[in-house]
Amino acid sequence: VLMINAASVKINNQVEGYVYVMHDITEQHKLDQMRKEFVANVSHELRTPLATIKSYVETLLYNDVDTEYSKKFLRIIETETDRMTRLVKDLLLLSKMDSEENSLKLEPCDFNEIVKNVVNSLSIEATKKGHNVILNLSETLQKVNVDKDKVEQMAMNIINNAIKYTPEGGVIEISTAYDEEGVTFTVKDNGIGIPKEDLPRIFERFYRVDKARSRELGGTGLGLSIVKQIVELHKGKVKIESELGKGTVVTVQLPYSKNS
Ligand code: ADP
Repeated sequence: VLMINAASVKINNQVEGYVYVMHDITEQHKLDQMRKEFVANVSHELRTPLATIKSYVETLLYNDVDTEYSKKFLRIIETETDRMTRLVKDLLLLSKMDSEENSLKLEPCDFNEIVKNVVNSLSIEATKKGHNVILNLSETLQKVNVDKDKVEQMAMNIINNAIKYTPEGGVIEISTAYDEEGVTFTVKDNGIGIPKEDLPRIFERFYRVDKARSRELGGTGLGLSIVKQIVELHKGKVKIESELGKGTVVTVQLPYSKNS
């Protein structure tokens, strides 16, 4: 997209020529477009649960609803408010990372320890679905210089997805490995997988393969975009490989220090 500004050059009120300035606004245009899309997405994501909450509140307020049904409706209201809370939390995290690019609180961390903590905190979910979680943690004790909270969040989002998008009784293999560059963290599942055509867009904010399924599983559509942002702030790399119906592998590489 090109924007052209034109101005005449006058000497003694005589037009002597014209100056044209061409700006390539493709990038700017794309950014504006993305921003607009993002705001539209946020509004939609917030309005959907709000509409549900309002309709159940109205039903409870203006009708005689028996105890069994009112409990059911209240539970739906609870689920929807939880969803909104998660969404607002994720949005705040993203916007904080957008605005403070150098906001990392780096400290030497034992990456295996971070992974173990996350696996522990998700063990109830994994057990509920009867998954077999296999931990393959490297014995190396080398520390990585990372922002502990953010890396924990990153691992949480990836492992949580593996649990969510794998049908009951799945196998989730979580590994760490160290080489001269840094640490490699891999989460492999044998779940529903991702269609090839969706893979290139999977790290975009609010992009989901199946909106209904993601909603049902309590997703916000922001998990992987948060992963990508955290990894990039650490000057690392993330990739996702997947085969529909077979499973997914997410691989994150982080350097020992983001400055190295
Ligand atoms: P969500 O909150 O919807 O889970 P994410 O950003 O974490 O959002 O993931 C985006 C989409 O990528 C999901 O909606 C899902 O379609 C797909 N996805 C992510 N991880 C996996 C996985 N391990 N297996 C299958 N699909 C996945």
